[in-house]
Amino acid sequence: MLSWPAPLLPTLPGTGPVLKLHDTSRGEVVATNPGPTARMYVCGITPYDATHLGHAATYLAFDLINRVWRDAGHAVHYVQNVTDIDDPLLERAARDHEDWVVLAMRETALFREDMTALRVLPPEDYVGAVETIPRIVGHIEDLLAEGLAYEVDDGTGDLYHDVSQAPGFGAESRYDEATMLGFFAQRGGDPDRSGKRQPLDPVLWRGERPGEPAWAGPGGTAGRPGWHIECAAIALDTIGMGFDVQGGGSDLVFPHHEYSAVHAEALTATKPFARAYVHAGMIGLDGEKMSKSRGNLVFVSKLRGEGVDPMAIRLALLSGHYRSDRPWTADLLTAAEERLVTWRRAVALDAGAPAAPLLLGLRERLTDDLDSPGAIALVDAWAERTLGGGGEIEEGSPGMVGDAVDALLGISLGDGG
Ligand code: ZN
Repeated sequence: MLSWPAPLLPTLPGTGPVLKLHDTSRGEVVATNPGPTARMYVCGITPYDATHLGHAATYLAFDLINRVWRDAGHAVHYVQNVTDIDDPLLERAARDHEDWVVLAMRETALFREDMTALRVLPPEDYVGAVETIPRIVGHIEDLLAEGLAYEVDDGTGDLYHDVSQAPGFGAESRYDEATMLGFFAQRGGDPDRSGKRQPLDPVLWRGERPGEPAWAGPGGTAGRPGWHIECAAIALDTIGMGFDVQGGGSDLVFPHHEYSAVHAEALTATKPFARAYVHAGMIGLDGEKMSKSRGNLVFVSKLRGEGVDPMAIRLALLSGHYRSDRPWTADLLTAAEERLVTWRRAVALDAGAPAAPLLLGLRERLTDDLDSPGAIALVDAWAERTLGGGGEIEEGSPGMVGDAVDALLGISLGDGG
């Protein structure tokens, strides 16, 4: 699939330190230790609705990882998928009497525009589920041949992964069985499906149902793939096993990331799928998580349509720590708009407070599990000293600070947006 255009990425003097991130599977902040090319897979959208601020916050968090790794001298191989066939997409298309393909294409195009406006570095591989189906089918056939997958004996053609044969099952989320069963039922799983060997077995292939699109599947059985095997297949095809960061919102901890890892580890008979599992918190509105099912969404495209500077949206979302569940409020956006005005006034000057200590501080804050609030506070302090006059003044420092804020935080301070 087509990705989106890359924003300019200024090169900064020197290199940043090692990035430390919270890994869900270890339950602690750990140092990432990528090779010359860092490898990251972030789960993408199901394109049945526009990008809301919860999505945006997630992709901004992983954009910071991308930027911090590049600043530390690594190349980054970033992969993101598009779940362009799944139940919610078909349900929305049916509700609106629309072709599901048209709906998916339109919402994916809008997502690209939102990511471009927010200055998110694009993935090197932006991969759709539909275009991956032949390779997904091959992987499922491999699992069947190994005796690790089975067909439910009711004529549906539905195929499941037998998790009782997956020794690593549970290692990613570290949840006990009761917790897994609860999230599985809440988040699209089918623990009560009859004919399965275990309630927690995940679907690999859903046999064709009347009125639904279908493709040639394992052993010729028509149908469509499950969501978890889609991400496992795309990651294996692009960055392989043992990549540095598997990312997404915290609602993907279980079942999605657990099962993607289990599928890939079964297919390759190696571990781990990812070296760290990193999860972004949820954005709330009026006391509830922002989600499609609740209908309490604020869309990036709607704010942009109202004339809101995308850099203010970005700054407002980064003013909270990526791992914390946090509310979106109008005040948050107003504060970000005011902060942008101040920062832009400061970087437009010819001279200001010294830039090198700020660059050091920004690198130190962001490599500490992406402390963006701490980084923003440092820029605030620099702008205050620069605009207040007095103290040590350095010619040319505002230009360098503008580059640092752009490269590390992704906030462009040129030309009022
Ligand atoms: Zn995924």
